[in-house]
Amino acid sequence: MERTLSIIKPDAVAKNVIGKIIDRFETNGLRVAAIKKLQLSRDDAAKFYEVHRERPFFNDLIDYMTSGPVVVMVLEGENAVAKNRELMGATDPKEAAPGTIRADFAESIEANAVHGSDSLENAQKEIAFFFAQREIL
Ligand code: ATP
Ligand code: MG
Repeated sequence: MERTLSIIKPDAVAKNVIGKIIDRFETNGLRVAAIKKLQLSRDDAAKFYEVHRERPFFNDLIDYMTSGPVVVMVLEGENAVAKNRELMGATDPKEAAPGTIRADFAESIEANAVHGSDSLENAQKEIAFFFAQREIL
């Protein structure tokens, strides 16, 4: 059993497809172990995407991630980290495989509907960033 962090990003929340996205996870063997809707501050978003600080798209990414509410979840299941990334599809929706969340719901390489942790180590850090132990069930 693994746990990973998933974020439904502002573009997808604005489109009112939270339920459709969660259905993809549940249908494919992942469970929602924790969930909340919140608005990221610029400080939160900058800390969360710290690894991208030097990238040319960093400021736009922070603007976008703070442009509206997000839904943050802990997903649990066998190979949860890799399975979530597979269900999400490639970062750029133009390159995402048919049937993936990004192929079906993302707008662009930036407004790409979902985030998923990219390793077990980062999953643990990202989960701790958003959730207390008692919120994960
Ligand atoms: P995420 O970390 O959000 O799950 P990812 O791991 O597929 O996405 P990363 O390379 O970690 O992709 O990039 C983080 C986020 O930064 C992307 O999801 C996207 O919103 C934005 N991003 C990445 N590359 C670009 C780019 N070339 N132009 C604009 N935004 C980008
Ligand atoms: Mg990433």
